[in-house]
Amino acid sequence: MADEQEFSVILSKADKITEEMIQLMIELYPICRSITGNGTRQTLSIIKKYFPIQVKEVKSGTQVFDWIVPKEWNVSDAYVISPKGEKIIDFKKSNLHLVNYSIPINKKIPLKILKEHLHTLPKYPNVIPYVTSYYKQDWGFCLEHKKFLELENGEYSVVIDSKLEDGHLTYGEYLIEGKSKEEILLTCYICHPSLCNDNLSGVVLLTLLAKYLTKFNSEFSIRFLFIPETIGAITWIHRNQNNLDKIKHGIVATSLGSKEKITFKKTRRNNTVLDQIVPKILKTKCKSYEISDFFPWGSDERQFCSPFFNLPVSSIFRSIYTSSTPEYHNSMDNLDFIDNNSMKESFLIFLSIISELNKQKMSNNQLLTNQKNELKNKKYEEKNMMKDQFYKNLKPKCEPHLTKYGLYHELGGQISTMQRRDFELAIQWILNMSDGTNSLFDISKKSKISYSLIEEAIESLIKANLLEKIT
Ligand code: ZN
Repeated sequence: MADEQEFSVILSKADKITEEMIQLMIELYPICRSITGNGTRQTLSIIKKYFPIQVKEVKSGTQVFDWIVPKEWNVSDAYVISPKGEKIIDFKKSNLHLVNYSIPINKKIPLKILKEHLHTLPKYPNVIPYVTSYYKQDWGFCLEHKKFLELENGEYSVVIDSKLEDGHLTYGEYLIEGKSKEEILLTCYICHPSLCNDNLSGVVLLTLLAKYLTKFNSEFSIRFLFIPETIGAITWIHRNQNNLDKIKHGIVATSLGSKEKITFKKTRRNNTVLDQIVPKILKTKCKSYEISDFFPWGSDERQFCSPFFNLPVSSIFRSIYTSSTPEYHNSMDNLDFIDNNSMKESFLIFLSIISELNKQKMSNNQLLTNQKNELKNKKYEEKNMMKDQFYKNLKPKCEPHLTKYGLYHELGGQISTMQRRDFELAIQWILNMSDGTNSLFDISKKSKISYSLIEEAIESLIKANLLEKIT
């Protein structure tokens, strides 16, 4: 069969492809990306050398569900000069030094005021954290805690040469047309600055996959998205609302370059073709791996799997994005953190999944079995409805913009305090599961969050007019 032959040709080039992925990562690493701006455009124009990606621009101020496309942010330079005249923090040395989306500033301030705008990781004194402030106009710098402790009293010159003005949100899209209009959706996000595993590993993997599958004689059409996380996914879904039925299988690719084992996060539906075939593929391809049920935090699967859309979208990653991963959102997630073998294995897994989906499409039998399973599950859920209290998410299309309602921390990038984090997780679980089929009892059981915290979060959601009790 033509398909199988094409796959074996790509397989035979796996080492070369791995080398290409690493080279591309080296090229993209220094660029200061964000959810908007020239860093994103530059990233997409480099990707364009590999395949004809279409670059799309959406105007600032555009309403997308509960969100508004923000102003465009661009930065030329940013630094802090000490009372002795030394440049002690320099954006040009690492773009992580500047809080992403910092507004412009040029003034002298005493150490006490400067400290209110400095972010460090006391646990890792030699590491620069990654912090964002997309939706609260603010400014700040990130630095090594060791340096922070050495700061002397006196006047500091603070310069941020940035622009925050009406412009566009930029994303990239590419469709490989298959024999069928039905689609496999492969997405990654392009909004993190100099961070390799969380962001670039997914970007380079999908770039090379798109390059090598371009002429592939596929059963499915394959759609690639290179979008800013959260706001980009919400924008894309908003613009493509009437075409989402075509998506039959989806994977969010992120954090695929560390030495940790591969994790497959199932779709919210929990019984799709991917939920069945990926565990089997991992079993044959990996020494160790993990299968996780869907949870409503993580990356863009949160939007694709929001209750109204509930698309068959999963995620594959290696290190989970929490404070328990030391390299999460800081300067340790650099080129040295990336393991070539992990990148190669990740690429081969994605390739095998596409190959398997194509084979299944040809036989088609499996799909029929799935539909039967779906019916079975529905009946089970209906039975449960008798038991408990049910709520309805009043904004079920993607996630509501939670910071607007004071229900989510404003400064992004870092994890909130444990107590606050638990409350925010409860909010995300309730919104994602409140589609009329999951009772409070179910939500508490699935999320392992205490009933009392669920109740507290429900009260806040009702106050914000985001949730309603079903009577
Ligand atoms: Zn991230």
